[in-house]
Amino acid sequence: LETDPQAGAAVKAADRAHVFHSWSAQDLIDPLAVAGAQGSYFWDYDGNRYLDFTSGLVYTNIGYQHPKVVAAIQEQAAKLTTFAPAFAIEARSEAARLIAERTPGDLDKIFFTNAGADAVEHAVRMARVHTGRTKVLSAYRSYHGGTQQAVNLTGDPRRWASDSAAAGVVHFWAPFLYRTRFYAETEEQETARALEHLETTIVFEGPATIAALILETIPGTAGIMVPPPGYLPGVRELCDKYGIVLILDEVMAGFGRTGEWFAADLFGVVPDLMTFAKGVNSGYVPLGGVAISGAIAETFAKRPYPGGLTYSGHPLACAAAVATIGVMAEEGVVENAKRLGADVVGPALRELAERHPSVGEVRGTGMFWALELVRNKETREPLVPYNAAGEANAPMAAFAAAAKKNGLWPFVNMNRTHVVPPCNVTEEELKEGFAALDAALSVADEHTVE
Ligand code: PLP
Repeated sequence: LETDPQAGAAVKAADRAHVFHSWSAQDLIDPLAVAGAQGSYFWDYDGNRYLDFTSGLVYTNIGYQHPKVVAAIQEQAAKLTTFAPAFAIEARSEAARLIAERTPGDLDKIFFTNAGADAVEHAVRMARVHTGRTKVLSAYRSYHGGTQQAVNLTGDPRRWASDSAAAGVVHFWAPFLYRTRFYAETEEQETARALEHLETTIVFEGPATIAALILETIPGTAGIMVPPPGYLPGVRELCDKYGIVLILDEVMAGFGRTGEWFAADLFGVVPDLMTFAKGVNSGYVPLGGVAISGAIAETFAKRPYPGGLTYSGHPLACAAAVATIGVMAEEGVVENAKRLGADVVGPALRELAERHPSVGEVRGTGMFWALELVRNKETREPLVPYNAAGEANAPMAAFAAAAKKNGLWPFVNMNRTHVVPPCNVTEEELKEGFAALDAALSVADEHTVE
């Protein structure tokens, strides 16, 4: 690796002087200056290389700088860099066709947005106009984006600063057996009681007031809680029974992450609307969207849809999506995630959990895994308290620092680390990552108690 500490220092200095970073106290962060990236790795200006077990923010599903996608973006830039959304443009038409071919059921119309949050905003708007109702149900332990409606749907502390009754959101508990809200001892109990809780919520809120129910098919940032069999089909039934639009948010879980094109395919459930972003083009150019069912598309067949964006279906982003989907199909990226997830990641993480007292639970599928870190396996007390910061978060900070020292960039959220490498990661790269994770977990172990 070439080093250029001076260039790195200049990048860092301008960042610190002028870049205002997301979700952060600006003086308390220390962003790494990144010189480059390729495949599953990135590196700084000082000669340190990191294996990226985060896929950026869980979006580089085909890794960094895939040559075919970079070339497709360059070709599109040379041909037609941009064009307004009201026109039919080759890259946009083709991206919509390729996405609609893969989305479940009759989700055959695609509304393009710039990212995940605005996809969620538009899905909710479509549901409200379609039903004539306003409220939206969403789960605690969820993330749906940083814009006003999306952050109000979110069920984590990022909502609190923007909490607004005007958003019309009612939160409920989805199943999570390891930290059950339902005193359940089995998955069957957890499923039945979570569905009973959801139906009671609907009945007491008044079904005629509820436009939509939004769920991450598998909650991502909140902890990769794979729903037990029967839960999502049960939710689908309740939505049908009460005339509620079911929105599945696949911004993180979609496009290969779970070892399927879409996580909904794991459960055989077809939503009315499905949001996507991130993996659709591995985030090479910002793109998101909503896949729309026949019935909701029909609502806007003769009456205008009240929404739009200047860059809806931007040609550069759509060309990147066409190339990414092509690469994923040609190179078997979805199959790779499924096979290595089942044969390599699951077994390796379970083996680490056996040896490390700090690992309370391992859960996931495909290239979508979480380790729940605890102070004590019996009591399941989290390694750090909910929403811990500063000194209270020191054990997780020490874990992350140890991983980085060993060349692994870990995804860390509250008391969890997620193993979410690119979906085209190799077995050798995974093994290298698990060795570093092993060393970092030994540091977490020091913070466990008898
Ligand atoms: N929905 C889910 C499930 C997400 O994970 C995210 C981002 O992490 C979003 C929505 C928001 O997407 P974006 O950050 O592209 O606006």
